[in-house]
Amino acid sequence: MTSPKINIKALTLVELKALLAELGCKPFRAGQLFAWIYSKGAQSFDEMTDIAKSERMLLGSRFSVASLSLLRQELSSDGTRKFLFGLEDGHTVESVLIPEDDRRTLCISSQVGCAQACRFCITGGGGFQRNLRAYEIADQIVVVEKVLAGGRKYSPETRSITNIVLMGMGEPLANFDEVVKALAIITNEPGLGFSTRRVTLSTAGLVPEIGKLGRSGVKVNLAVSLNATTDEVRDRIMPVNKRYPIKELLAACRHFPLEPRRRITFEYVMLSKVNDSPEDALRLTRLLRGIKAKINLIPYNPSPGSEFKRPADATVKRFQQILQDNEYTALVRESRGRDIAAACGQLREREAGAEK
Ligand code: SAH
Repeated sequence: MTSPKINIKALTLVELKALLAELGCKPFRAGQLFAWIYSKGAQSFDEMTDIAKSERMLLGSRFSVASLSLLRQELSSDGTRKFLFGLEDGHTVESVLIPEDDRRTLCISSQVGCAQACRFCITGGGGFQRNLRAYEIADQIVVVEKVLAGGRKYSPETRSITNIVLMGMGEPLANFDEVVKALAIITNEPGLGFSTRRVTLSTAGLVPEIGKLGRSGVKVNLAVSLNATTDEVRDRIMPVNKRYPIKELLAACRHFPLEPRRRITFEYVMLSKVNDSPEDALRLTRLLRGIKAKINLIPYNPSPGSEFKRPADATVKRFQQILQDNEYTALVRESRGRDIAAACGQLREREAGAEK
């Protein structure tokens, strides 16, 4: 009887080393395989030409190199590119590539759907389907890089993607173990080898998991979607606040261990007449006092039929000015790729609509 093949991308380097030892492979083989898969984007053992054919056949009989299948791509007039991926069980997830000056940031998903049910978020409106496995998270990067390379060889030094943000579909800290495993693949060498300074995890504010992440030794950047300055408003737009109110969330942020010269990013989606008043801006400066923080203001990206509106540009500017007058770094992050519906969950939503 033959046992089913193990997807090699579902293994950490340590796990792969142990399995290869059982097969009698050389100890350095695990690192070599990781380099082929993650640095060179190999999709089969046949491509690994510096391994003897007999050993490639042995590996191929035990392991598969399964990849996400790229179902669709869209290019926005502002250069933003969207990628829709199919998973083995028929679910879909998306990633968005955002070019900015000399950076190309890939925004990746951590779950199919999301259970947080934030009122302004399309993914939240669709409910939760399942967690992504670590390789399904990391493979979004592998496949996009391969597309961008277009057949050209690349290495961690010459690849196109420069930054990774876990800000796509899903709540990364609700899929803690697989996300931490994916972050190891993303930041370790061999593996994708991204500097931890260039990787950011964004959370809706799961307080116990923020503590756990801090203790885990994973040193990626932390972003927190604050989005309101009173519990009354935050309860209404982010149900997670009823479990972990603002005070507890900010206490967890105060205790989060930061590497030298790093700050926590606070995201603040601006919703007209909900959280965009000068009083909100002042309250925000008081709430964040004592935290090494920077603030990203994100004017709401409306979706059809939404109850919320994007504030006027002048309202956003006034809010930003108050934060800056109080010595905070506050950037306005425009929603990119509006013509291809690149806000969280929008491409997938459209596909689902087309299938109905
Ligand atoms: N669950 C994580 C990551 C996914 S959401 C989190 O909550 O941080 C990524 C960011 O997009 C969050 O800051 C969220 O507040 C923001 N966002 C979601 N829908 C949006 C919309 N329609 N317009 C603008 N920002 C949005």
